[in-house]
Amino acid sequence: MLGIGDLGKTALYGHLTKEDIDAALDAALKLALKESYPIMAEADREGCRLEDGNARVPRCYHRLKSQYDQGGWPSAHIPRESGGLGFPMSLWAATFEDFVHNVGFLWLWASPMSIANGISQLGSEEQKKKYLPNVISGKWGSTVAFTENQAGADDVARVTTTAVLQPDGTYRIKGAKSAITSGDSDLFENIVHCVLARVEGDPANVTGLSLFVVPKYLVNRDGTLGPRNDYAVVSLEKKLGLHGSPTVGINFGENGNCHAELLGPRGQALGIFIAALKGCPFYGVVSTGIASAAYLHTLEHARTRVSGPHISESQNLDAKSVAMIAHPFVRRRLLSMKAHVEGMRALVYYCCLCHDKANAFTDPAEKEKWSGLKDVLFSIGRHYTAERGLQIAETAVKMQGRFAYFNDYPVHQFMRDLLPFGSWEGDASGNILFYLTQLLGQRDGQDFGNLLKEMGRSIKEYGEVEGVRDLAGDLERRVNLLREMGLYVATCFKEGKAILPICNGMPLVYFMGDICVGWMLLWQAGIAAKRLAAIFKENGIDGGDLARRNEFLSRDKDAAFYDGKLHSARFFIKNILPEVDGVATAIRNEDLSSMAVHENSF
Ligand SMILES: Cc1cc2nc3c(=O)[nH]c(=O)nc-3n(C[C@H](O)[C@H](O)[C@H](O)COP(=O)(O)OP(=O)(O)OC[C@H]3O[C@@H](n4cnc5c(N)ncnc54)[C@H](O)[C@@H]3O)c2cc1C
Repeated sequence: MLGIGDLGKTALYGHLTKEDIDAALDAALKLALKESYPIMAEADREGCRLEDGNARVPRCYHRLKSQYDQGGWPSAHIPRESGGLGFPMSLWAATFEDFVHNVGFLWLWASPMSIANGISQLGSEEQKKKYLPNVISGKWGSTVAFTENQAGADDVARVTTTAVLQPDGTYRIKGAKSAITSGDSDLFENIVHCVLARVEGDPANVTGLSLFVVPKYLVNRDGTLGPRNDYAVVSLEKKLGLHGSPTVGINFGENGNCHAELLGPRGQALGIFIAALKGCPFYGVVSTGIASAAYLHTLEHARTRVSGPHISESQNLDAKSVAMIAHPFVRRRLLSMKAHVEGMRALVYYCCLCHDKANAFTDPAEKEKWSGLKDVLFSIGRHYTAERGLQIAETAVKMQGRFAYFNDYPVHQFMRDLLPFGSWEGDASGNILFYLTQLLGQRDGQDFGNLLKEMGRSIKEYGEVEGVRDLAGDLERRVNLLREMGLYVATCFKEGKAILPICNGMPLVYFMGDICVGWMLLWQAGIAAKRLAAIFKENGIDGGDLARRNEFLSRDKDAAFYDGKLHSARFFIKNILPEVDGVATAIRNEDLSSMAVHENSF
């Protein structure tokens, strides 16, 4: 659908042949199925331990890690000149998604992903030489250490960790960080923390915040490990069942001697972090992957669990019970899960492709266009997939009744693993100001305009395809609504009424996300309709003859796949997408009750 293979025609990704791509996808899937999937519950059952100030991970992670390292997976996304495999983001995402069932393990790599990028983009030559090869090879782990007890993502200005400049240009850091994912473990020889702190004397607001590299073991000039840095791992968080992942609290500089190096320009931590997030598809890939796993487990359950007679037999007391999948309410829920997952996945991979095109294209205008689209869509996709993904996982738990409730694995686990995504970078409504400004204001609205144009292109292309014409019309009306909403929100900002879109942050996330998913599903349906028509023609099937059609679908996998795509799009566009009309009406009601209500009146 996305034509990711075309990236191989660019100089940047010319080293990747179709065979390479297929081999990578195959190898990642094999490793995930053979080594990772079987241990996902075992890791949590054994859990992590804190012994003598060192965190130890479940034993089963060691074998998986060595195989993961051997495959070169920790650095698959890193450019080849920096020692990685040089995969485009869209290929990396597809291999990474195979491991989402085991987030405890996966989170060991999410941070390296950001610090490796951080050091390769912002680090001095000395820092690159010192840290990158070992982080990229998976020998050293790394973290992002931002959170403090009083300072979560919505209030980073209250970070109190301080850094004091030394005569040799390095810093000594002091402060307590909490909730640091993979903050310590015996899987790595060394751990490199990316710590958010304020240089002593710098402004007390966000403009005073800087990033620092703080290694667990100091690194000598010749690359060998020196003494242990001055910090203590003081706690191991007890999470909602995710015991295989070491999330720790760290006190840096208890003895006043914690060595740190400035990473990037001083006082610009927030800007750097935001730029890193814009280029990081991690959240969307993982949320969608977990939601997909929840859906597939539920589908299997619905196919095998027999429960009640068919609705058409409701008057027949002797009617036999049939599988859950035959029941109307179950079918609706399943198709809703399927449609959301397929649309979200396409959206996330499209974002990755925008990122890859921005990197690979050499024409400045093209680069700018794809980079802008990536920024706009990552913003929508990240929160939307987190919120909708959690709803899908919740539906999976509900649909498996006591079979889910009496077991921690697998479906409860998916819900548990999706829970933090909504709060990680701050609640969607908390961040909405940033997202809206970015969405509508970036390059004077040109990126938002390009998004509408790309949607329009798909509508035009598939508006003529038999079987999806009406869907294209439905989507076109919502794309026009999106344009109107963009203008409305921009006007709110201009006229000093920014509080209206801010209060409607969450509805706006759903509004924009649903329209994007509708777009992706129409695109898929357009392709599917053509392919299905060709298969029917080839096999002499009259698509209008329902009995023949169904008989054929029961024995032809490809035809069933394309038919499924058509139904996903139809279901979503006819049943879910119209909800955006109500959201638009509600937003334009301009009701500010939530701000007017007195705190005592809640
Ligand atoms: C499993 C897990 C792993 C983590 N790993 C890391 C890590 O590796 N490194 C790291 O630095 N941190 C990590 N964290 C911490 C994480 O970044 C914070 O939990 C997150 O930023 C939310 O902050 P908080 O927990 O202090 O909650 P709060 O700031 O209290 O926010 C909780 C909720 O309240 C609402 N809220 C609060 N303030 C506002 C506001 N101003 N505007 C709008 N809504 C608001 C939002 O709904 C928000 O989701 C991790 C957390 C978890 C659960």
